[in-house]
Amino acid sequence: MAKYSIDLQAGKVKEDEAVNSVGEIIVGIDLGTTNSLVARVKDGRAVAVAGEDGKQVLVPSIVHFRPDGSVVVGEAAKPYLTTAPERTIYSVKRLLGKSFGDLSDVKDQFGYRIIDEDEDRLVKIAVPGSDGRQRYYSPVELSARILQALKARVEAEIGSPVSRAVITVPAYFNDAQRQATRDAGKLAGLDVLRIVNEPTASSLAYGIGLTEEDEGRTIAVYDLGGGTFDVSILRIEQGIFEVLATNGDTFLGGDDFDQAIVSYWQENYGLPLSTTQERGEIRLLAERAKKALSQEQTFTAEFRGTSVSLTRAEANDRFAPLIERTLSSCVRALADAKLEKGDIDHVIMVGGSTRVPLVKEQVSAFFEKEVNDTLDPDQVVALGAAIQADVLAGNQQDVLLLDITPLSLGIETVGGLMDPIIPRNSKVPTKVGRKYTTSVDGQVRLKVAVYQGERDMVADNRKLGEFILNDIPPMPAGIPQIEIHFYLDADGILRVKATEHRSGTEQSVTIKSQYGISEEEMALMLIDSLNHAEEDMRARSLAEAKTEANNVLLSARKFIRQNESWLSGEQVQEIGRFVDALAASVAGDDKDAINERMAELNTYTTPLAHEALDRNVAAAMRGRDVN
Ligand code: ADP
Ligand code: MG
Repeated sequence: MAKYSIDLQAGKVKEDEAVNSVGEIIVGIDLGTTNSLVARVKDGRAVAVAGEDGKQVLVPSIVHFRPDGSVVVGEAAKPYLTTAPERTIYSVKRLLGKSFGDLSDVKDQFGYRIIDEDEDRLVKIAVPGSDGRQRYYSPVELSARILQALKARVEAEIGSPVSRAVITVPAYFNDAQRQATRDAGKLAGLDVLRIVNEPTASSLAYGIGLTEEDEGRTIAVYDLGGGTFDVSILRIEQGIFEVLATNGDTFLGGDDFDQAIVSYWQENYGLPLSTTQERGEIRLLAERAKKALSQEQTFTAEFRGTSVSLTRAEANDRFAPLIERTLSSCVRALADAKLEKGDIDHVIMVGGSTRVPLVKEQVSAFFEKEVNDTLDPDQVVALGAAIQADVLAGNQQDVLLLDITPLSLGIETVGGLMDPIIPRNSKVPTKVGRKYTTSVDGQVRLKVAVYQGERDMVADNRKLGEFILNDIPPMPAGIPQIEIHFYLDADGILRVKATEHRSGTEQSVTIKSQYGISEEEMALMLIDSLNHAEEDMRARSLAEAKTEANNVLLSARKFIRQNESWLSGEQVQEIGRFVDALAASVAGDDKDAINERMAELNTYTTPLAHEALDRNVAAAMRGRDVN
């Protein structure tokens, strides 16, 4: 391993700059395709937050624009799905982070208009206003409207502002979709501390993954929502949820159950379904029947003068092939994860559609195991997000977790360079050690300055703290063996320890770093590092040239001192001239000049160094002391 040296500089240990601001709660949000909701930990328990009526916790993920451009979100927007479909946006989650090209197959299935002038650009939704002009909204803006409604809901309940959240996404979401979710949060005035996978949140809601006992456990999360089905196979590995496989169907869910019921009635009663209004109404009635049959054995109602009925057995007949399709996905997920059914330790039921008794039965039969279904399946994801939020807030001790570091952590080395010790996207918890040594003879103190960020120069990164390793026994440069360990725990708390191995001297500092930094700052820092990559490279090579030049200067001066006895006055003067020129260039910022001056000095001194060597050898042969 390469040896590094660290500047010797006196400095004070800085106070922890980045601890969480205490008091303000962090909420968990399930931003769903069909329904969204927000939850928080209250008196040590995760609870979903209800709206004004004190009961309804689900907010339908629907945004309606009135002709004047004002907005209605949630339950109140639902009736407009049938009366003003072109101005009522549902399933916006399907569009997040997608380009028009991505959606070419499905864009006609929505009641509203999806547009883009360019295949590769992200989509927008065109909504007609009262003046006949179109207004354009991005999926990020629309999702932000839903998040705003959820934010307002918690704020109303607790009576104070909420600005930090954990938001969940499907495990299969790619970077663009995750980024779009973060952006939506930002736009809604939320600092998104984490994007968490829905199946991970679901496991947490059941308390799986919160203790060491869960180490090595394998979990299947079966999530059947309104319009989508996902199955994820997770394994808890060193406190981290690893997604071993995901599978599913982005167009299979409760809506298909409703449609199956509509078809059944149509076949049996020949219902009048010519208008959009009628089709909308019958779908709502079918959903009512489906929900009722999750409790009862029969359902009867009146539809436009016709009495319609349905038994659970009849519904099951129609649901069975749909459920069969979900089980095929489970087979594929297991195969991808290279696991057998018997390897699964827990099966978790998520999503409103898992209330259908036949779904539970079939899934349980498939995995040959009892399923976890004690929590409200609509709420599981949000409850887990709230638990994750609570962990981030530092309210839960001894919790194993489950993520990656968003930014690199490292220390300052000679020349103000950043030496990343834990690279960004490393899994936590993690422990990394690296060896360093001193750069100056007799160095007895070493400053360890810890930074977070992606830039090459520490000055461009964020300083988290520093400490001094004192009492290093005086030794020539390069001899002390200093090991610096970074321990980053699951809560993002970093402990840095420096040990000098020859003497056993040890010093450490604990820094609470990760969450003091907002998403926004983090994004800026990442963008910054990309924008400045070239500049950073120049700065890094300049710093390296300076460090090398300083070493050359030291040796040159030492050479003069040690060889004064035989060097001519002219030679000493000449070396002095090259040394001064190099020193002058080191004071500047021209890397090439430094390298040239170094080469000139080398060219002049190399023959003299050979002569010195010969003389020393000759002296040694004469049995005399060299130097
Ligand atoms: P998403 O994750 O897509 O936002 P949800 O998890 O909220 O969706 O699930 C919504 C679906 O659950 C809807 O299709 C709804 O009809 C269905 N659902 C809700 N309650 C029941 C119930 N009691 N029985 C059957 N299906 C239900
Ligand atoms: Mg869901």
